[in-house]
This record gives sequence, C-alpha cells and structure tokens, in this order.
Amino acid sequence: MMNIIFLGPPGAGKGTQSQIVSQRLSIPQISTGDMLRAAVSQKTPTGLKAKAYMDAGELVPDEIIIDLVRERVDEDDCRNGFILDGFPRTVAQADALAALCAVDRVVNIDVPQERLVARISGRRMCPDCGAAYHVSTHPDGRCGKCGGALYQREDDREETVRNRLRVYEEQTQPLIEYYAARGLLVTVNGDESIERVTEAIAQAVERT
Ligand code: AMP
Repeated sequence: MMNIIFLGPPGAGKGTQSQIVSQRLSIPQISTGDMLRAAVSQKTPTGLKAKAYMDAGELVPDEIIIDLVRERVDEDDCRNGFILDGFPRTVAQADALAALCAVDRVVNIDVPQERLVARISGRRMCPDCGAAYHVSTHPDGRCGKCGGALYQREDDREETVRNRLRVYEEQTQPLIEYYAARGLLVTVNGDESIERVTEAIAQAVERT
C-alpha cells in the first residue's frame, strides 16, 4: 500500500512522471486536472461549474474537488495505493485528504520559475491517451504512443499560464512546508531529462 502525492508548479512534469511511476508501481494515477477536463467535455454538473475557473487559471472551489477525490480514492483499483497528480493544491484540500487516508510520500518536483512558462506554453497534449509532449520534440503534432493529433490546452496559453503560476505560489506552495513538517516531503530536481527525474523519484519512493 503506497499513497503518493506529486507536488510542483504547473509545467514541473507531474503528469509525465506520475504516468511513468504509476505504470512501474502498478497503482493508478489520479489527475484532478484530467478528471475535470473530462467532466467539462462531457458537460456534467461538475464540469459546468468548473469550466470558468479553469479557463481563468484559477483553482476550482475546494468542495467540488474534494468530493471528486473522495469518490475516486474509494474505488477498488485504489486498494493498493495511488498517485495523486495535481491534488492537494490548498491547505484545506490537504487537511481533507488527511481525514480520508494515509499519505506515505510527497514528491516535490522542483523546476526554476523561469523555465516553466516556456515548458507550458510549448506543451501539446494527446486527446486520446493523455500523454504530454513539447512542440520542440514533436513538431509533427502526432502522439508518439497512439498517433492521436496533439492539441494545446486552452489554459496553457501564455496569458493564463502567468496566472496559474501566481495561484500556485499563493495557494499551493505552502504545502511544501506543510508536508515537510510532517516528515513526508522529498524534493527532486525536475530540471533534468525525463529519465533522470524518474530515477530520482524512484529512489525517493523506495526509501519510504
Ligand atoms: P492541471 O491539469 O493539474 O494543471 O489542472 C488544470 C486546472 O484544473 C487547474 O488550473 C485548476 O483550475 C483545476 N484543478 C485541477 N486540480 C485542482 C485542485 N486540486 N484544486 C483546484 N483546482 C484544480
């Protein structure tokens, strides 16, 4: 049983790394951003409420997101653990999670602020399998895994990115201290190749 949180600013590589580690450990990756994007495209009540916040680069209200995570971690496939990618993002969410289940490790992926805007504004996503790429390495616009036509997330445009980074600093960064104080935090350098970051994370998780 291993419940892991991936923490870090937008563009740190949480999604990429949590997908890899999820496969390695055979535990599900739970991305609240992916869940919300699915809800928006299916126009569910949650999606309709969340859309305006997401488009503006603001956080969706805690109650909405906590309900979503509560239901998800209750599902059968989470019995042996899970990786949370993009949750918690506020102290209230972290407190709610603590009341739901144990947290074994918090992996903080650290990337210098000045690298993030370039990373995110060049990010392209596969609509079919959720993989993320950078335009500089995938200029043909095709997913390397399944061939899907890559697109740019609405909130990855530069205007919104700057607001997301500000929101991160104000509301999510305090969680670094929160989890350090509980002895759960490991920080890895995210300004490296995908493979090296994965290795650093694997070591951090194995020390648990
Ligand atoms: P992400 O894909 O993790 O960058 O999330 C995309 C957007 O979904 C964020 O900018 C927020 O608007 C919303 N979102 C995702 N996770 C959370 C969360 N834990 N709390 C509040 N809003 C969230």
